[in-house]
Amino acid sequence: MNAGMSEAAGLADYHVHTRRCGHATGKTAEYVQKARHKGLREIGFTDHIPQYFLPEKVRDSSLAMGEGELGAYVAEVLALGAGCGDITVKLGIEADYSPGHEGALKAILEGYPFDYVLGSVHYINGWGFDNPVHIDGYAGKDIDALYGVYFELVQRMAASGLFDVVAHPDLVKKFGYRPHGDVVPLYKRTVRSIAAADMAVEVNTAGLRQPAREIYPAPAFLAICFEYGVPVVLGSDAHRPDDVGRDFEAVAALLRRVGYRETASFEGRRRSLTPLP
Ligand code: ZN
Ligand code: FE
Ligand code: FE
Ligand code: ZN
Repeated sequence: MNAGMSEAAGLADYHVHTRRCGHATGKTAEYVQKARHKGLREIGFTDHIPQYFLPEKVRDSSLAMGEGELGAYVAEVLALGAGCGDITVKLGIEADYSPGHEGALKAILEGYPFDYVLGSVHYINGWGFDNPVHIDGYAGKDIDALYGVYFELVQRMAASGLFDVVAHPDLVKKFGYRPHGDVVPLYKRTVRSIAAADMAVEVNTAGLRQPAREIYPAPAFLAICFEYGVPVVLGSDAHRPDDVGRDFEAVAALLRRVGYRETASFEGRRRSLTPLP
């Protein structure tokens, strides 16, 4: 193993952003360089899709790339991939699920040769609950009820059939607000819908860098995924080159503990399985 290689060697990072979203830093080539340095097998770019679900006037260029940038994003990632022999670069997108806008999303996704589509719930009834700017929205909320609403959106997202992977499946825990009741029945219902949609879930290390201090999803959720045969991909949710492949040793250990021996890979929206290194 080369100096600089890590226990992340041989893994794939399927959740990486670019500067186009307005809140990430560094050049795309630097993200690839970091992935190469860590010995990753693949890096998949998944920048935030334009906010197709919002009226044009209120779209926020600090949260997602603009409508006009999607073509350039795709071209840039494809060119980057074509120039790399030693590491595979995949073209993904992180797409918000917004009920009622499925048709608009479908039209956007059909326009580009994505390898895979991450599905994310970042909004609950228009509230950007994972945005630190709107953290005051948690005040006075019944957190158990909030978890119910959040996971119901994840179930509807799965049922839409538009996505390949559930990104950060329990993002609702991001700021450390935890329910009091037993969430296992809610997890089971959710995972059943994910399995029925033949989707994978993302095991995302960004939760370790947030007040939740825990990988997304929680170990109990992941164990249910394994039980239902739901495949996994790994993601750092890097918004700077340094975070590519971050804490992947911890994820690999968690996956093995739960029972996983393979991770999913995607090409042209077709899934295959690769043994864990
Ligand atoms: Zn982001
Ligand atoms: Fe996200
Ligand atoms: Fe992301
Ligand atoms: Zn994300």
